[in-house]
Amino acid sequence: MMTQMNEQKNEMEISFDAVSQNESFARVAVAAFVTHLNPTMEEIDDVRTAVSEAVTNAIIHGYEKRDCGKVYLHCRLKGDVLQIEVMDKGKGIENIERAMEPLFTTRPDLDRSGMGFAFMEAFMDDLEVESEVGKGTTIRMTKKLGSSAWIDSED
Ligand code: ATP
Ligand code: MG
Repeated sequence: MMTQMNEQKNEMEISFDAVSQNESFARVAVAAFVTHLNPTMEEIDDVRTAVSEAVTNAIIHGYEKRDCGKVYLHCRLKGDVLQIEVMDKGKGIENIERAMEPLFTTRPDLDRSGMGFAFMEAFMDDLEVESEVGKGTTIRMTKKLGSSAWIDSED
């Protein structure tokens, strides 16, 4: 008997210091949060990459690696749709449109390649960026999980 999961909601919120050790913590936390949905390896990889990129940006650009401040991670599940918010109270983005262009980076000196937003856009279904200079940045991403459940059930 099929059960209708679509209306189920679940939410989690964590905040952590803006240090690079927490990049892996954040992606593991989100992956663990969605495990019960039986996402495919590919979906999990996509989500992990997107979370990594957003959290890394908060740490190295938002707080400029000054080891001060917190990164706020907020995940919501509505059925099999995952919404992720990554928020920092760092320096903010002057020109969001330009920042989101592939290959654009303000930190070529740190060997950044300017592909973070392009990856988030490619790996998630939807990406929104809200930012105010001097106040901080919020990244909102959504992705539907378990979309290949019917194909997978063949084997
Ligand atoms: P890569 O992600 O490939 O290492 P990158 O971080 O420079 O390089 P993106 O992640 O696409 O590339 O970000 C583009 C630019 O947007 C950054 O260089 C930075 O100027 C700005 N930016 C991104 N996230 C933030 C943030 N949380 N706070 C302030 N500026 C940001
Ligand atoms: Mg980046």
